[in-house]
Amino acid sequence: MAKETIRVYARLKPLGRRQQAGIYSVDYDEKSVSSLEIIVPHDLADGFVNNKRESYKFKFQEIFDQEANQDVVFDSIAKPVAECALAGYNGTIFAYGQTGSGKTFTITGGAEHYSDRGIIPRTLSFIFNQLQKDRSKVYTTHVSYLEIYNECGYDLLDPRHEASRLEDLPKVTIMEDPDQNIHLKNLSLQQASNEEEALNLLFLGDTNRMIAETPMNQASTRSHCIFTIHISSKEPGSATIRRSKLHLVDLAGSERVAKTGAGGHLLTEAKYINLSLHYLEQVIIALAEKNRSHIPYRNSMMTSVLRDSLGGNCMTTMIATLSLEKRNIDESISTCRFAQRVALIKNEVILNEEIDPRLMIVQLKREIQDLKDELVLVTGKQKTSELSQEELLWLDELIETFLKDNDPDSTLDVGADMCKIKYCFRRMKQLLNHSKMSDKKLLSQLNSEEKDINKEAREELKKLKELLQQRDNEINILVHMLKKEKKNLQGALFQLNAASACSTFSAQPLSANLEESQSPSGLSLSETKDYSSSVHSLPFLSRQAGLGKLSAGCKEAFEIFKQDHAYSVTIENNKRLLNQKFAEAKCLGEKLNALKNKISNLKRELTQRRTQRAALALCNPSEDLNTFDPVEEKLQTQIEELKTSYKTVFNCLKELKVEVEHLQLLTEKGEMKLQKDFQVWWSEEAINLQQEKPQMVSSPNATSTSPQLTKLSRHPSASSFSKTTEVVPMEDTAGKTDSISSSQATLQIRTVQGSSSSVSLIGDRQVDADILAFIKARENILQRKG
Ligand code: ADP
Ligand code: MG
Repeated sequence: MAKETIRVYARLKPLGRRQQAGIYSVDYDEKSVSSLEIIVPHDLADGFVNNKRESYKFKFQEIFDQEANQDVVFDSIAKPVAECALAGYNGTIFAYGQTGSGKTFTITGGAEHYSDRGIIPRTLSFIFNQLQKDRSKVYTTHVSYLEIYNECGYDLLDPRHEASRLEDLPKVTIMEDPDQNIHLKNLSLQQASNEEEALNLLFLGDTNRMIAETPMNQASTRSHCIFTIHISSKEPGSATIRRSKLHLVDLAGSERVAKTGAGGHLLTEAKYINLSLHYLEQVIIALAEKNRSHIPYRNSMMTSVLRDSLGGNCMTTMIATLSLEKRNIDESISTCRFAQRVALIKNEVILNEEIDPRLMIVQLKREIQDLKDELVLVTGKQKTSELSQEELLWLDELIETFLKDNDPDSTLDVGADMCKIKYCFRRMKQLLNHSKMSDKKLLSQLNSEEKDINKEAREELKKLKELLQQRDNEINILVHMLKKEKKNLQGALFQLNAASACSTFSAQPLSANLEESQSPSGLSLSETKDYSSSVHSLPFLSRQAGLGKLSAGCKEAFEIFKQDHAYSVTIENNKRLLNQKFAEAKCLGEKLNALKNKISNLKRELTQRRTQRAALALCNPSEDLNTFDPVEEKLQTQIEELKTSYKTVFNCLKELKVEVEHLQLLTEKGEMKLQKDFQVWWSEEAINLQQEKPQMVSSPNATSTSPQLTKLSRHPSASSFSKTTEVVPMEDTAGKTDSISSSQATLQIRTVQGSSSSVSLIGDRQVDADILAFIKARENILQRKG
């Protein structure tokens, strides 16, 4: 059904005999539109101001004048709505007007005459008559009767109503579902199968309303009453149900509070009535406005209940009841104005059809049965909903085979039976879940084991780390100790050399001297042995090697020291003499060898001669072997002479060997002495350096700078060497005690002329890091010892 505006009717209440009528007129134009004109006279006595409009004209769908009967009103107003309700559309008829204007009379009717029956009984009568007539559908009808008083809803059909006051009854409350449909809680729906039952319910409701009413609380005029007829219909065999509601509303009086002159309790009631009507007016204004998105239905209970009726899915009709008594003209105009606004509201009525779930179930069951029957016909097998035990076993075997089959093309064929197919799916799901569960279990087990292993590994790792740390610490300590020892060793070696240099030199055997001097510094026995054993072979080379280990600078210094040392000349002379003696010895040796060879040859000749003579004597027995042989004699003489010469030469060589050995010893001793002297000097220099320039030693940066060397070379002690010093040589070269003693703080030295070239040589050289390190090491040792 298309959108339709709310139909607005006007009904004029008949005036009483003593009532002074207002001036009005009802007109009908060509389009059968009724209009009501109300004339307001200029009557100051009545409180109207002069400048008020004289004439008010309102248009209505139809105007029922004073003499209009109830049946006419019903036929015109209620019958079309009732017909729509029977067809499945919602409908609302509400009466609006001031108290006493005939709202109740119109909606419910008068009690005096049967003909005064109002819209509700007539509608009920009409509907049930229609239901009886229409056999094509099955109808069910329910009624509800709601009274809204002071914004509270009461069920007028509640059985407890008779024994209670209105306020003591359970209140009807509004519930809204997600689709914003309104549901009324505690409002009973009473089934009415026929007109009589329905009228009884109406009578019950009205009676309840009257009981609650007291002289002080004339609720009937101040409350809204909504009588609702619920109709549901469906065609036999159809699942579609049509539901409709027909609200017949008797609103409270619309008069203004000021006009009533009420106070206290009554004022409160009037305020509520007016407030709810005010909200109704607001809803109507909002609905009349175009593009209004929010409609304030929720402001009052009445507007909430009538939401569908106002601006929704409902065919709505309004009856404006007017009392055209002169003193009520003002309220009548107000009612008409309200009616004009309501007339602007458009409602869209739709058929309320829904499918009955119970009927749907029945229908589907029937359809299933039909299909089953059809299936039996097609397959020739009676189909049961449950599978037999044999079938289940067979299916299990099939599934097992299918799952074990590695062939990707393998199929699981159970036939065109949905029960079997579904069972297969269910079974495979079970198996899958089972395997998942066992996998999870296994995984959690593995995880826990792994955690244990991890824990053990972590502990092991921790232990190993601790051990490693411990070993690191140990190594660090050892390295530190080793470094210290190395330094000690170097210092000790230096000290040893110094000490040995300072000790009485050649009074004791060299080896013993060495051993004595070395032992306090803790030198190893092997080193001592090495010295003693090599004293006759290459003692100096060993010493040199020792020096070489210590410092390159030291070696260099030694070379220079050696050049200017007095022993060098002696050593060189000795070496030269040795070479001469070697040459002589070689000559004598060659002579000896030649004599030896000659003697051997002569001896051989003699032997040959004797052999020849013996052979001759053997061949010639007359030959006497004892006879003198001059050849033999000569040979013997020669041999004797050569032997004498040999002995002489041999003796010479023997003497020469002694001399050579002695010279060798002297040379070695000289070299040894040279080295010792150097070491003594070297240590003296170191001590002096330390005493004079401690900062040089202690400063880590003072290792290889030229200025420091310059200072060193300028030092008196250093200059004693730089000017080329020579240790007073031994009195003889045979190794007698020299003049150096350990108790002497300084060496007995004398300056050697012509050695100044060495000064610049030494002074210009850089003292390398080794020397300073060496000095520092020695300082450490001295400190420790101190
Ligand atoms: P309201 O419900 O609007 O307060 P009522 O319906 O109770 O007014 O009417 C007040 C009085 O007027 C009642 O006694 C009623 O019988 C009488 N009445 C109202 N309208 C008519 C009418 N059209 N014909 C006869 N009597 C009427
Ligand atoms: Mg009334």
